[in-house]
Amino acid sequence: MAKDLGNNSYQIYTPTMKGEHENEFKLESDLRRALIQNELFVEFQPRVDVITNEIVSAEALVRWEHPEGGRIPPGLFIPLAEQSGLVSDIGEWVLNHVCEQLKTWIKDGSHLVVPISVNLSAQTFMRRNWERTLCSLLDQNQIPPHLIEFEITESTIIKNEEIMSEALAYLHEKGIKVALDDFGTGFSSLSYLKKFEIDTLKIDKSFIQGIQNKKDIAIIRCIIQLAKELNIRVVGEGIETEEHLTMLKELECDEIQGFYLSKPVKHEQFRELLRKRVL
Ligand code: C2E
Ligand code: MG
Ligand code: MG
Ligand code: MG
Repeated sequence: MAKDLGNNSYQIYTPTMKGEHENEFKLESDLRRALIQNELFVEFQPRVDVITNEIVSAEALVRWEHPEGGRIPPGLFIPLAEQSGLVSDIGEWVLNHVCEQLKTWIKDGSHLVVPISVNLSAQTFMRRNWERTLCSLLDQNQIPPHLIEFEITESTIIKNEEIMSEALAYLHEKGIKVALDDFGTGFSSLSYLKKFEIDTLKIDKSFIQGIQNKKDIAIIRCIIQLAKELNIRVVGEGIETEEHLTMLKELECDEIQGFYLSKPVKHEQFRELLRKRVL
């Protein structure tokens, strides 16, 4: 097949590329093992109310400690898990883990519990009745629905409009919140904001990071105004500096999340932060 593509295409089969494929394949089978053998864990990154500075919720982010390779970032293994069909299992594993965590926290003292958001990937929505499966996970663990929010990217919603519209209505009815993640990066029409039950918009960090640029500020301002008009909560992601924070305060963003406030941390550390309450 390489020959049909002409001379340049021989590059496709260079030893490095072959190596890469093999690596991917190995990572994939390693990931299967990781799911069973407890190599995955979850970190929590606080979301803070801009006005009160209080931690109002946190995002659960999956981590993989590979026995030989060390920490592998989700930006690398989530796409791989998507290709291999493992990502929905990972999603369920994360949700289960978050439920267990919430259960322990509730037992310890309910004033130290905040809602947790869990990222869901496009593949999850291809599973029949995924929303019911996830809801029953909450039921089994006796987790009140207001303590869970699902983060979904806008491109995912657009790809599966029919299924998503029904599923999101179901979640809304159950009292589970839904956030649109990485908002502003997907090429999409805004009309779905009125069609779907969305509770939160998370402004993608690329806009925040470009905040010296007038165009980025204009986009952020627009998203915030839009969210307010539609009665949707708006979160700025990727707050790394005082300057980012000041700007988002001025623009009246509701909540912020980012390294400037706290990196994603393990559950014990997150509880410590919650004890202080204010960041
Ligand atoms: P995301 O859902 O948009 O998560 C936010 C990412 O931004 C996290 O990266 C977080 O560590 C990072 N971040 C937070 N604050 C800052 C900041 O101030 N500056 C910068 N530069 N980055 C910041 P992380 O943990 O590496 O995750 C990357 C992506 O992997 C996530 O993006 C999400 O799409 C995916 N992911 C993570 N956990 C899960 C999961 O449990 N399930 C699924 N399906 N995807 C996940
Ligand atoms: Mg997210
Ligand atoms: Mg994302
Ligand atoms: Mg995001």
